[in-house]
Formats: sequence, structure tokens, C-alpha cells
Amino acid sequence: MAGEPQEDCLFCKIVEGSIPATIVRETETTVAFRDINPQAPTHVLVIPKAHHKDAAALAADAPGLAADVLRETQAVADDEQLESYRTVFNTGSGAGQTVWHAHAHVLGGRGLDWPPG
Ligand code: 5GP
Repeated sequence: MAGEPQEDCLFCKIVEGSIPATIVRETETTVAFRDINPQAPTHVLVIPKAHHKDAAALAADAPGLAADVLRETQAVADDEQLESYRTVFNTGSGAGQTVWHAHAHVLGGRGLDWPPG
């Protein structure tokens, strides 16, 4: 069910602490941690603690929580002193989504080309 922890979900395991991660921020509803395979000097993932499979499901099922995640992307950028940064939600495997728990990538600390590949 939407919002419930999923046994086979990597990011639910990071939320519950059974898989370690370098957590940089935590709120009542969100966790932010460093990506294991960083694509920029700052590459942090912001996730809702509750399980929603992607950004679209998160926005539809829990819009207040989606706002919490967006607010935290800015907080990460502030913490990392990023004047410019990119927030990415990959939605669907064709767009590069590999983990089916909604997450925002916060990328910064280098020049970022547009359009992305
Ligand atoms: P996606 O490809 O779904 O948009 O993003 C998933 C991200 O999760 C990838 O950038 C990948 O490097 C990251 N990732 C995958 N496994 C782990 C892990 O065990 N720990 C952390 N911190 N990041 C992970």
C-alpha cells in the first residue's frame, strides 16, 4: 500500500537503518544522504521516509510530503553552499530510474550541461 515500507526496497532499508548511508539531513518525514556513485562534487538524494514508487505517485498520494522533499532539496543546497544546483527526479526506467522509491537527486559543485544526456 502507498506509504507503507516495502521489504525489498533499498531506500526503505536506508530509512530503517538496516543498510548504512551517509546521512546529511533528516526531518520527521524525509532523509537526505550521499549517493553511493556521485556524479558531481555534491550528489545527495532526498527521499520521503514513506514508500512511494516515484515522484508522480508521491505528488498524487501525498502532496504535502512531496513539498517536504522539495523543501529539503533547497536545504541541502544551502548546507552545501551551492549557488546553482540541479534537482532531478528520474521517473521510469527509460529516464534512468533504478530505485523504485521516490527520490530527488541534488547535484552541484561543478558546471552542469543542458540538456542532460
Ligand atoms: P535513480 O537511477 O533511480 O534515479 O537513482 C538511484 C540512485 O541511487 C543512483 O544514483 C545510485 O547511485 C544510488 N544508489 C544505489 N544504491 C545505493 C546505495 O546502496 N546507497 C546509496 N547511498 N545510494 C545508492
